[in-house]
Amino acid sequence: MTKVTEVPFLIVGGGIGGLAAALGVAETGRSVHVLEQAKEFGEIGAGIQLAPNATAVLDKFGVLEAIREYAVFPKRLVLMDAFSGKELSALDLGGSFRERYGYPYLVLHRSDLHKVLLDACRANGRITLLTDQMVEHVENLGEKARVVCHDGTTYLTEAVIGADGLWSKTRRLFSDDKPVCSQYVAYRGTIPMSEITPHADLDDVIMWIGPHLHLVQYPVRRKELYNQVVVFKSFRYKEDSDDWGTPDELDEHFGACCPPVRNAVTYIQRQRRWPMYDREPIDNWTSGRITLLGDAAHPMLQYLAQGGCQALEDAACLTEMLRLHDTDVEKAFLAYQQERIPRTATVQRSARVWGDIIHADDPIAILLRNTIMEQRSPEDISHVDWLYSRRYN
Ligand SMILES: Cc1cc2nc3c(=O)[nH]c(=O)nc-3n(C[C@H](O)[C@H](O)[C@H](O)COP(=O)(O)OP(=O)(O)OC[C@H]3O[C@@H](n4cnc5c(N)ncnc54)[C@H](O)[C@@H]3O)c2cc1C
Repeated sequence: MTKVTEVPFLIVGGGIGGLAAALGVAETGRSVHVLEQAKEFGEIGAGIQLAPNATAVLDKFGVLEAIREYAVFPKRLVLMDAFSGKELSALDLGGSFRERYGYPYLVLHRSDLHKVLLDACRANGRITLLTDQMVEHVENLGEKARVVCHDGTTYLTEAVIGADGLWSKTRRLFSDDKPVCSQYVAYRGTIPMSEITPHADLDDVIMWIGPHLHLVQYPVRRKELYNQVVVFKSFRYKEDSDDWGTPDELDEHFGACCPPVRNAVTYIQRQRRWPMYDREPIDNWTSGRITLLGDAAHPMLQYLAQGGCQALEDAACLTEMLRLHDTDVEKAFLAYQQERIPRTATVQRSARVWGDIIHADDPIAILLRNTIMEQRSPEDISHVDWLYSRRYN
């Protein structure tokens, strides 16, 4: 016989978004279960950038101090030409930036961020964390919702938050859309800092850009490790095949870059590739007592380094709405999506546009871009202000 467990609140997925949401739901006085499909909670071995709109949320959830122990606080975001080796532009992250946003821009190892969130969840008596629970099906029953796992385990619950990422099963309730493949692929990982030949200030986040490619570099874990991500467009893309974006294409793309970029690429691990997907924004992700959060709701290309930041903003907004509409979860979920959909749709679309700008191959577009970039002052925050301004306290 199928075992049915009744739980007050349920979150599908224990990634950055799911764990942050659990902290938020618990903060409103509710008990919450997190179901994670993997055998263990964890994150992949690469870095993540968190802008002030996200570090403000980490502070709200009481974990920013723990994050500080692992994080690196870069001095600048720097844009470099991957072929000429010339600096095109920089954004100063100290002085007036810190004053304006009140919270830092930081970079850290994903597993450090995930561990801090997980430790906070484990220490919270209202949060129950369960692994090896692959959710197959989520159903709206009106007063309740039903969640069925692959092994038949069934939960009846007051509310469900689907934080199950890009390939979300919860999202199927709202849309039959599919992830959109950008035909770009990433290779990424960290290496010990001691193995790096410095080409610039290792305190900076550096993005080397060129036609159809880029490389991002920054230190993580108290500057013990150096994170590198190479990204390029595959001209051998084939739908329904994994035989594209291969390591030999990586070498072809970066072979003509300037020496620091060519050198960096030699350190990149080639065992695993990440094809880059997003989805079109949708205009509804809530049905009664079920809603979506993070990549399940609004997966985006990573070019603005905002996917995780937006998941954290979601968690903060949801917490605020659950508090505001204390006894009415349906109202809280609707208010949450009403606020979050326009914002996240803009970030999704802007990430695509920024990708087109950095990967431009038309010489006139490149000339115009570089001219504008070179004229910017490092203190000029006008193009990022809409993104980094704090929204939730
Ligand atoms: C190359 C790259 C670089 C990036 N850089 C940045 C950056 O610098 N800054 C930034 O903010 N963002 C960045 N992002 C985006 C960021 O990684 C994601 O937006 C973020 O991880 C989304 O978190 P999430 O919790 O919503 O989803 P996920 O991290 O995908 O977590 C989903 C969780 O749900 C679990 N799950 C899935 N299906 C089920 C199921 N059926 N049942 C139970 N559990 C399930 C998964 O195992 C996983 O643990 C980057 C992305 C890429 C690809």
